[in-house]
Amino acid sequence: GKTRQNQQRSNKYSSQGHNAQNHAERLERIEKRDSSENAPPTRLSVGDYVKIRRLDETNGLIEEILPRKSELSRMDAGSTAKRVVQQTLLANLNQVVIVFATAQPEPHFGLLDRYLTICESAQLSSVICINKADLPHSGYVEEEAKLYGQLGYQVIFTSTQTEQGIDQLRELLKDHTTLFTGPSGVGKSSLVNAIEPGMAIRTGLVSDATGKGKHTTTGSQLYPLSGGGWLADSAGIRALAAWNIAPEELAECFVEFRPYLGECLYGDCAHLDEDGCAIRQAVNDGHIQERRYRSYVRIYTGEER
Ligand code: GDP
Ligand code: ZN
Repeated sequence: GKTRQNQQRSNKYSSQGHNAQNHAERLERIEKRDSSENAPPTRLSVGDYVKIRRLDETNGLIEEILPRKSELSRMDAGSTAKRVVQQTLLANLNQVVIVFATAQPEPHFGLLDRYLTICESAQLSSVICINKADLPHSGYVEEEAKLYGQLGYQVIFTSTQTEQGIDQLRELLKDHTTLFTGPSGVGKSSLVNAIEPGMAIRTGLVSDATGKGKHTTTGSQLYPLSGGGWLADSAGIRALAAWNIAPEELAECFVEFRPYLGECLYGDCAHLDEDGCAIRQAVNDGHIQERRYRSYVRIYTGEER
């Protein structure tokens, strides 16, 4: 009974659910999200949209800060155990490009899962960029990439050497507010420079040898792309890396777990070793990939750090 039910569920999910959604649709969903229920911001942050009343040709007054679609914040230095002060670093970011390399360094897909869960939790659309496509690499990289494509993520292979995928990446950034992230050495600053020459230093992705480009403020900044859209700097990357997901929300951040949530025997199932866990059943039935489930367990139990 249960297995067949899951089978049907899984098929339904594959044909109409998450898999059918492409990146553009996800982005649109995020942009159209009703943010009016969010409290209007009281302090202006980088990335905010505002209503301005024009006074004359050159002057205006900010009358209203519009509700935010997304918010990256960091704990303020003045925070204590009792008093947590959140400072918004970056508002209305909508896209994260998660960069890995095909080789040198070898991709770490467990780490990719961690980045993806952060993006899901922060309601940011993610693009998986696998750079250094020009280097000889093992076939499992393509296989894993295919899996993420099946989960509904946009995956692109790029090379700053052959320029493979660079135009496609540039097109994806157009008119969006994007942040690049990923381990060091995978080619983030090379990619950013391939898209927009000189941009890597401006955004702090490469330290400027003169030190002049160093950020003295802790706030994030956005840099305009000549093709339209904005790029967030390294302060935004640090804010994203510090994002915390509540344990009970983690399972939802694994997109393929979603159809099974609520099917477990216990309502507070952590999907670890509880009886009647629908997630583990789906893993056993081959509907959820084992490696992704192991990522879940690793992040849940905090082994990742
Ligand atoms: P970051 O730390 O992620 O910003 O990585 P960098 O942009 O500094 O690149 C790290 C190294 O990888 C540098 O030596 C780059 O020249 C090299 N690199 C970057 N992109 C590519 C690529 O597409 N192919 C190859 N073969 N090397 C690359
Ligand atoms: Zn469960």
